[in-house]
Amino acid sequence: MFTCMTNSPEETVHLAELVGQKIREGTVLCLEGDLGAGKTLFVQSLARTLGVEGEVTSPTFNLMNVYEGICRIYHFDLYRLETEAELDDIGFYEYTEEPEGIVVIEWPDKFPESLPEDYVKVCIQRTGVTEEGRRLTFSCVGERNQEFIKELESFVHTSH
Ligand code: ADP
Ligand code: MG
Repeated sequence: MFTCMTNSPEETVHLAELVGQKIREGTVLCLEGDLGAGKTLFVQSLARTLGVEGEVTSPTFNLMNVYEGICRIYHFDLYRLETEAELDDIGFYEYTEEPEGIVVIEWPDKFPESLPEDYVKVCIQRTGVTEEGRRLTFSCVGERNQEFIKELESFVHTSH
């Protein structure tokens, strides 16, 4: 687990670029944080870094967006989801269990039971000290991404 502080949206964009440079295909990345924390901004920058050229917006109403970059990126937002059955309907488990490409999930904490065994977790919290201060905590659930988290930590700390 490691933590990074950002003091502006631009700094969060930069941090997400660094993550985008290191992230591996087959990774599920869960983004926790309140409304307005910066989850979608993070995904936008990640997607740009992965070569996505079109619009990247929060799939709040349609639950999932798919982008084409150097690999496919599946962007979920579970905020408005009401029942677990809807996840099944949109094929959530097929995308997250053996992911091809990269899967990012906003509001994963709404359906904790439905998350895959292995994922990278990013928690974005307001520091409360300044309006634009955020603390981003990176960790992993399961064995699979442990090495990746360590590698990411040293990369971020030397480039941030
Ligand atoms: P979420 O998807 O978490 O609801 P968004 O990414 O849509 O949030 O919006 C985050 C908002 O907070 C943006 O308007 C962004 O400019 C602003 N913001 C201010 N400071 C930061 C920061 N340090 N990191 C990320 N976003 C920030
Ligand atoms: Mg959002």
